[in-house]
Amino acid sequence: MSNVEAESLALTCGALVGERQPTSVPRIDVLSARDVPLGGPRAMRVRRTLPQRSRTLIGAWCFADRYGPHDVLSTGGMDVPTHPHMGLQTVTWLFEGEIEHRDSLGIHALIRPGELNLMTGGYGICHSEVSTSRTTVLHGVQLWVALPEEHRNTGRDFQHHVPEPVSIDGAEIRVFLGSLAEVTSPVRTFTPLLGAQITLEPRATITLAVDTGFEHGLLVDSGDVRVADTLLSPAEMGYVHPGIDTLTLVNESDGPARTILLGGTPFEEEIVMWWNFVGRSHEDIVRAREDWEATSERFGGIEEYPGGRLAAPALPNAVIRPRGNPPRR
Ligand code: MN
Repeated sequence: MSNVEAESLALTCGALVGERQPTSVPRIDVLSARDVPLGGPRAMRVRRTLPQRSRTLIGAWCFADRYGPHDVLSTGGMDVPTHPHMGLQTVTWLFEGEIEHRDSLGIHALIRPGELNLMTGGYGICHSEVSTSRTTVLHGVQLWVALPEEHRNTGRDFQHHVPEPVSIDGAEIRVFLGSLAEVTSPVRTFTPLLGAQITLEPRATITLAVDTGFEHGLLVDSGDVRVADTLLSPAEMGYVHPGIDTLTLVNESDGPARTILLGGTPFEEEIVMWWNFVGRSHEDIVRAREDWEATSERFGGIEEYPGGRLAAPALPNAVIRPRGNPPRR
């Protein structure tokens, strides 16, 4: 997915280091979603919870879009022309529909519900994403992971994994990254991370052991889900501060509730995020943009996609400066 949001063009992110006090009661900040149009020939809209003014990273998770359910016949579905990425990994996770992925590593993959597709664009990669003609409803999430300094120029990579669902206490859990409910994903990450789909039966309650050092984000797709004293509605993300060892989720609705639980150790590096790039400085971004516009080998190319390449937006006039998460209370 390509980020065309004007508001985030000069957005930079950084986590601040603060005191960490163990507690048994989770502290939750509600991150509301905003409506953002996707680029490309089709005008699909997404609901974005990361990054935003009050929260830029959760662990190394630096971008979270939820979209759908879209009736593809009326919205046209997804068609994102070839565009670059740098310094990050993309996670595509679908609830419904099918997306055809092509990248400059030479990967041509069909992305289906319940299947993790993790693309690593370290030094540089490009890809295109198009919903297939078989798709009638498109519904899922697009997530990005910032790479740590020592790995941010790593080579291109693509990993595919289909987690086996496990059922516990009225919930079905699919762990696509990291460990939860005694399931560990075999997919390699560059920082400690958690990514899982948790679907709760109507009125179900589940308590999960979580890593005390992790911060978490619970993204609600459907249903109303209570975490501690906070009720989260669809498209909202609940940010859960580090320092807890269990997390209890309550489905307060009469239908199933589907959520995505993200987690990770707080990402302590300052990063600069602009368009589809994650760097460490304004100069990193300028160079990556120039390399993309010059059709440099840095990002490679895709010959089979008929729709051409996305042009990079104009850079802001000012030097892009760091902006951090709020200090921990
Ligand atoms: Mn993309």
